[in-house]
Amino acid sequence: MNVTVRFAPSPTGFLHIGGARTALFNWLYARHHGGSFRLRIEDTDRARSTGEAVAAIIDGLDWLGLHWDGDIVHQSERQPRHAEVVRQMLASGHAYRAYDSPEELEAMRQKAKAEGRSIRYDGVWRERGTGDAPSGIAPVIRLKAPRDGATTIHDHVQGEVTVANAQLDDLILLRADGTPTYNLSVVVDDHDMAISHVIRGDDHFTNAFRQTQIYRALGWEAPEFAHVPLIHGPDGAKLSKRQGALGVEAYRDTGYLPEALRNYLLRLGWSHGDDEIISTEQAIRWFDIDAIGKSPARFDFAKLANLNGRYIRESDDARLVDLIAPRYGRDLTGDERARLLLLMPHVKSRAKTIKELADITKVYISPRPIPIEPKAAASFDPAARELLNALTPALSDSPWLAAELESRVRGFAEARQLQLATLAQPLRVALTGSANSPPIFAVMAALGREETMGRIRDALATLSGI
Ligand code: GLU
Repeated sequence: MNVTVRFAPSPTGFLHIGGARTALFNWLYARHHGGSFRLRIEDTDRARSTGEAVAAIIDGLDWLGLHWDGDIVHQSERQPRHAEVVRQMLASGHAYRAYDSPEELEAMRQKAKAEGRSIRYDGVWRERGTGDAPSGIAPVIRLKAPRDGATTIHDHVQGEVTVANAQLDDLILLRADGTPTYNLSVVVDDHDMAISHVIRGDDHFTNAFRQTQIYRALGWEAPEFAHVPLIHGPDGAKLSKRQGALGVEAYRDTGYLPEALRNYLLRLGWSHGDDEIISTEQAIRWFDIDAIGKSPARFDFAKLANLNGRYIRESDDARLVDLIAPRYGRDLTGDERARLLLLMPHVKSRAKTIKELADITKVYISPRPIPIEPKAAASFDPAARELLNALTPALSDSPWLAAELESRVRGFAEARQLQLATLAQPLRVALTGSANSPPIFAVMAALGREETMGRIRDALATLSGI
């Protein structure tokens, strides 16, 4: 079977984290089967759809590396085709015009309510001819849905579910103003795009029954369905903003790597044994819709951050420099980039996000004199000052390599029968402004001779300790 899937967002906001997961599952399924992954923008709600949202969806998919095949389909451009299909249904007797006035529909609602029934259209116009049509009312066109029997869906996630047709009323296909409704548009587009599998959020599961009825009325084969449970918060309730219900651009801005987010989203609702770290190649090899979990996954920021930290640690140093470079609010010089590149192997394991990585590396490109944390400044006592003063000549004529610098400082410490830390600590404070840093000789090598000596001079001139 040729697999063709689609991601069909409504462009009313950013690419939401739940939508991103739906896109990922579809993309993986297509890649796994050597099939096609299509993008359809469901922009029929002209009042709520914006060009900005379309751009954000496209940017988000691009950033996540989920590239679609073929041209983007814009649902709004297909309205003439939708209307044409409804005319076919009218002609074949699978749809009818209904001329109910708003008052009549309201009375129907009130009656159902009073009788404790769920509100369903009563089908008064099913058999009436248009000769009875009242003047001045533009009709809607409704599906002549079967009244007997049942509609069954064999969903890859939800299993086999049957709904009695008596529970489903004659839904509107075309509104009085001639615009198609969501269920009709989706069916026509999925059919015309030869979609083989519909993988989407389970908030659309009830629509799948109505859509199946439309497929039957048209004599078209329905696609296979996989309705994925929505992502919940850690408390099991609907995911809130604070818990992660954000657009993917918020994740990008915080500094999550796209491959880490892909890995995390994949594991939200799908599993392969106990594997936590799954590369995209492995995911393509293993992904299958039958392994999607039936209960909602819970979003966990701490887990995502840990996973991201792992991916950062394993990332190429030059790529990480490229990612942090735009985060300092100014252009970096070639020299500053070179510094960051030398430091990267020593700092990347300390950050869980690219934002954190930019924060902890900022001091290495800060102009002199660098800010010194008060706690670190306090440890810069007179003894430390004196040692650093005495060490300065030994450093200034050393070849500027980490190993050489280390042997100079070690030699100096041994000659004075001192622990290395006794020297390393004031050096650390002078060079990084903090009592905690990557290996100090790597820091010196990265900063270079001039900057290192300058920072030591600054510290000696300004810090007096306590
Ligand atoms: N446009 C719908 C949404 O954004 C999805 C429709 C579908 O996947 O069938 O929720």
